[in-house]
Amino acid sequence: MTRIDELPIRDELRGKSPYGAPQLNVPVQLNTNENPHPLPDALVRRIAERVSEAARTLNRYPDRDAVVLRTQLAAYLTETTGQPLEPTQVWAANGSNEVLQQLLQAFGGPGRTALGFDPSYSMHALIARGTGTEWISGPRTEEFDIDVEAAVAVIREHRPDVVFLCSPNNPTGTALPAETILALYEAAQQARGGRGALVVVDEAYAEFSHRPSTLPLIEGRPTLVFTRTMSKAFGAAGLRLGYLAADRAVVDAVQLVRLPYHLSAITQATAHAALEFSETLLGYVAELKTERDRVVAELRALGLDVTESDANFVQFGRFADAADVWRRLLDHGVLVRDNGVPGRLRVTTGTRAENDAFLDAVRAVTKEIN
Ligand code: PMP
Repeated sequence: MTRIDELPIRDELRGKSPYGAPQLNVPVQLNTNENPHPLPDALVRRIAERVSEAARTLNRYPDRDAVVLRTQLAAYLTETTGQPLEPTQVWAANGSNEVLQQLLQAFGGPGRTALGFDPSYSMHALIARGTGTEWISGPRTEEFDIDVEAAVAVIREHRPDVVFLCSPNNPTGTALPAETILALYEAAQQARGGRGALVVVDEAYAEFSHRPSTLPLIEGRPTLVFTRTMSKAFGAAGLRLGYLAADRAVVDAVQLVRLPYHLSAITQATAHAALEFSETLLGYVAELKTERDRVVAELRALGLDVTESDANFVQFGRFADAADVWRRLLDHGVLVRDNGVPGRLRVTTGTRAENDAFLDAVRAVTKEIN
């Protein structure tokens, strides 16, 4: 059998592993920040209707610019963030991962650098690598916040072409105040002089936050971009639909690198149907937020160190051996995530019953190891 390293593969990919949270078949799966609610029946029926309609013209390529969908996404963001947005300021692709990749294809690449603040969403660095963009890892505080002074110093030192901020941050759950985003945006522009820098705020979990979205900051800031997804709040991870909001020039730039007809007619029709049900789906989000806050409180009551969460997951610890606790929870039928943050694990908020099963497992494991 030929090994990857025997292929004439790019040097920077040699010896690397692909992204992969384990997909194990256990009773309680709380490891990939999915929404535990299946889509409501009425929405499933609506999807079937919209998809049959789209199927009639599958002999044709889909709307290359996804105009109807982008109009709806712009309306959703305008309504939920208060920031008036035109469809020309919104772009959609197959998951926000693809949006991030398109951004790096257009604004990163060989000879360019991207900076993020770790621990954060590991795909930022992996997509940078895949697009030949050099990755720079900036620091976080002990509480997993971004210290503005330290962050500005790193930006001044490296003068990155692209800065990644993640708010609420995966895997820690922490959200960024508007002042931090503004200070880092200004520092990134100044560091690069006339050419400026692209600042990407990954808001995959925005709908779960205690605070309002900072998306209105795009006003008058042409290189500030917010990315969103229907994988979490809309409970549609299987759909693969991510999007961004920014100045329309950024959308025009992304169109230089996107593959023609990248978003299938089936995807566009399904996303359209899901957006028609946004109110119902945001109702599930409100329930999940209450459950998330309960999990935080109960873990704290068990004496654990729990990071403040604005997302649909919770980082908890500290354990002398987090990998051991991860295995023990699995033995109790509960799959959580070990993101490699020393002494910590991350649990996705599930249904009330799943969260109870998780909390019971934590109680049992705490007894085992103490
Ligand atoms: N950003 C963050 C912070 C995430 O956690 C995820 C999913 N784990 C994504 C982006 C990608 O989501 P998707 O491609 O499903 O939109």
